[in-house]
Amino acid sequence: MDFRKYKPSRTKTPSSQAKHRWFLDELRTDFNQRCWYCDLHDSQMWWKEQFEVDHFIPQSEDETKKLDYSNLVYSCRLCNRFKSSKYSVSEPCFIDPEDNRYWELFSYDEDLKFLYDKNDKNSKYIFKELKFYLWLRQKLNILNEFNYIEAELCKIKDTNPDILKLYQKISQFRQKLNS
Ligand SMILES: [Zn+2]
Repeated sequence: MDFRKYKPSRTKTPSSQAKHRWFLDELRTDFNQRCWYCDLHDSQMWWKEQFEVDHFIPQSEDETKKLDYSNLVYSCRLCNRFKSSKYSVSEPCFIDPEDNRYWELFSYDEDLKFLYDKNDKNSKYIFKELKFYLWLRQKLNILNEFNYIEAELCKIKDTNPDILKLYQKISQFRQKLNS
């Protein structure tokens, strides 16, 4: 099963901010409300408040990238914590969000457990570093799939009254989950 359905694209005209955290809303839009690293949608449970701004090249590596929008990534707290200040210019390494290669590195098995590309050392490295093997990751992938199904239902909700009712029910529960 494909890992990611939407590719983020950063605005080329970001605002200027004094703190990297203040870019959160812009990044959230550019990254389709999804963690760049694991694709988790921020509407899952209480996770919206637990999304953060990650520095792809850590501040400890390059202080000048601290407020550089092209270096900032919308990231869930799990990925941000696990990635931490890890960075390398030689492989294996993390892949920049703008790079199309990241798209191909992962997939899911039928139970929505993460799979890495065995022929790619970066894939294996990221899988290990971000702990994609954790039980929690699989559960979050399943929640994520609900989000995709909900989005599909939203597209066809006006074609049939029964579908509309189902969609409204899901939306109500979603609001309770997020309140
Ligand atoms: Zn994540």
